[in-house]
Amino acid sequence: MEQKQKSIAENVKDIMNSIPPNVNILAAAKTRTLNEVKEVIQAGVINIGYNYVQEAIPIIESVGVNAKWHMIGHLQRNKCKKAAYYFDMIETIDSWDLAQLLDRYCKELQKTMPVLIEINSGRESNKTGVLIEKVDALIDEMMELENIHIEGVMTMGPRFGNPEDARPYFRITREVFERIGSRNLPKINMNILSMGMSNSYQVAIEEGANLVRIGTKIFGGR
Ligand SMILES: *Cc1c(COP(=O)(O)O)cnc(C)c1O
Repeated sequence: MEQKQKSIAENVKDIMNSIPPNVNILAAAKTRTLNEVKEVIQAGVINIGYNYVQEAIPIIESVGVNAKWHMIGHLQRNKCKKAAYYFDMIETIDSWDLAQLLDRYCKELQKTMPVLIEINSGRESNKTGVLIEKVDALIDEMMELENIHIEGVMTMGPRFGNPEDARPYFRITREVFERIGSRNLPKINMNILSMGMSNSYQVAIEEGANLVRIGTKIFGGR
């Protein structure tokens, strides 16, 4: 007999039971329906992540304050203003240019936006994110911005079939996270280390992640 597919609520429960209590789940909701997103919130997931501003807007408008909305995809300059308005956190700041622009729009909205710095831990030239040796300079520049607030770092890392292969990339990201934290910079709270996806979140947690971004394992295959 074919095994019955588990519900979103059951998947969330399984994941919650398999991770330490200090680790938060973010549901990566790209391509999912409004009902699926409502279901995941009902199941107790507070953080919802989107890769595209345009895809997120109708869902955010419909669900609103019942969730925290995270931008987890590369943020384009021309989407920055809308992102400033709709999102609760931008996880993908990777340039001074983008940081300034977001800060300006947040100022107009009289809003302070929590952000994460995206680390290009795989050193892939086609990927977004800051190289580790450039992170400190970016953060130093960002110190003067008043309407965005650095709360941690995020990485994608290269995608592997075997999650163990991702471990070194999670580890170097954690090292960056701790090093910046130990600088004790004013106005910066290094609280959030966002890394790990459906196939790699356990390894990411072992390497210190406290926010894991999960899509497939919650919603099923796309
Ligand atoms: C899609 C996505 C995830 C989740 O990936 P799954 O393998 O489906 O769990 C996490 N982070 C980002 C940035 C994504 O785009």
